[in-house]
Amino acid sequence: MNEYILSLDQGTTSSRAILFDTNSNIIAIDQKELTQIYPKQGWVEHDPVEILNTQLETIKGVLEKSGVTVKKIKAIGVTNQRETTVLWDKNTGIPVYNAIVWQCKRTSDMCEEIKKSSLNSYIEENTGLVVDSYFSATKIKWILDNIPDAREKAHNGQLIFGTIDTWLIWNLTNKKVHATDYSNASRTMLYNIKNLCWDETILTALDIPSNILPEVKQSSGVFGYTDHKVFDDVIIPISGVAGDQQAALFGQACFKEGTVKNTYGTGCFILMNTGNKLIKSQNKLVTTIAWAIDNEVEYALEGSVFIAGAVIQWLRDELGIISRAEESEICASSVADSNGIYIVPAFVGLGAPYWNMHCRGSIHGLTRGSNRNHIVRAALESIAFQTKDVLNAMEKDAKMKVRTLKVDGGAANNNFLMQFQSDILDVDVERPKILESTALGAAYLAGLGIGIWKNKNEIKSNRKVEKIFKSTMAADERNKLFAGWQEAVRKTIGE
Ligand code: ADP
Repeated sequence: MNEYILSLDQGTTSSRAILFDTNSNIIAIDQKELTQIYPKQGWVEHDPVEILNTQLETIKGVLEKSGVTVKKIKAIGVTNQRETTVLWDKNTGIPVYNAIVWQCKRTSDMCEEIKKSSLNSYIEENTGLVVDSYFSATKIKWILDNIPDAREKAHNGQLIFGTIDTWLIWNLTNKKVHATDYSNASRTMLYNIKNLCWDETILTALDIPSNILPEVKQSSGVFGYTDHKVFDDVIIPISGVAGDQQAALFGQACFKEGTVKNTYGTGCFILMNTGNKLIKSQNKLVTTIAWAIDNEVEYALEGSVFIAGAVIQWLRDELGIISRAEESEICASSVADSNGIYIVPAFVGLGAPYWNMHCRGSIHGLTRGSNRNHIVRAALESIAFQTKDVLNAMEKDAKMKVRTLKVDGGAANNNFLMQFQSDILDVDVERPKILESTALGAAYLAGLGIGIWKNKNEIKSNRKVEKIFKSTMAADERNKLFAGWQEAVRKTIGE
């Protein structure tokens, strides 16, 4: 009898449900867009009820599309946009405010104040993160400070907090389970990743009562069971939970220390498994918990590039020099090189390892011979150069050489980009058959949690590789091109 695992992938722009069989084949996908709410410049919110409802609709959607009966679904995995913050009434289930999305900048000034205080180095040291509005802590504080009676209710035990995994699990279990996993907890800026507990010093400093926090559980294992109303009296265990980037790391079977994945979406998210070693970055990366399984916590180094696939959207939507993202591959492959052009897509500043929020994008090296194809090629190359910057930082921090880069995300479909990535890094670039690594990772964690797969080795042997790109570029050429990129970045930053 066929058995299935349902993966819920609650992302920033949409909620998705993907049904996998136990050979990790995709059986059906359903997706619902999510309304983006921008109450003010730089503020981003979601409606938590819409998050829940769209997620429930996609569950219905995959069941209808696949024709699979609910009884055959053995486990549910949850993966989610990280850091996004919800506070709700424990009795009524009604959120006291919209979900404040990770991208929201409303607490930037609060973070600047923290940075000036002694709390800054404490937070870096104990959470592995840099103080930033990106993470949940200051978003919680904002709600408690600004919503009438919220802090009082929180102190009285009436309000509870969750990231999106917690919000979904609490609702799917009909208020029974208030929990998160280690990977999500490590993105709140309230979790002590050394001592593996909520950090009292930070909680006190931000006046956040600890009773609003969820229980932190292992990423694989039963969190709870769906309420009988969710699936017409069939009860399914929720047995795998991880934040989206960590889930992708797991879905790529990056189980060994030193293995790395890069997700090429709007931006790039690059994570390196560092095993049981908590490595404090000397090169502006963040340290995070990858997952906890079988009572062992594993760590990762993480670096994010703000603009990756988005530079291709820009070519399409703003410059209008391509009509579809895939066309970029044909343009770039039609010329021998970028003819000396470098694009530094610092549209919103530069992320890791520069962390320069103030610089803006630039194009270097234009001549009368520069044409459309050169510009498209330079845009794709910029994605690969930015990835190299982050990987160089990771190699320095981890004191090891990366041998293979495992890739996923929309722009990983671009063969030119993948070949150039391999050439400029001089490492193998491995593209799996299933590019849905995030959803797959949650399914693997859920399957592992109820024994569908016995261990990580079994999962590894289940994974299928579609293509390996190998470097063919001469070292001189590589060095010359990368030196040109570094020079372009220096000019962009204004050094
Ligand atoms: P996200 O999850 O961040 O929305 P996706 O993984 O869906 O991102 O990937 C979409 C991004 O990838 C877009 O920015 C798009 O421009 C880019 N993209 C998609 N296909 C290609 C392609 N063939 N070549 C280059 N970029 C692509």
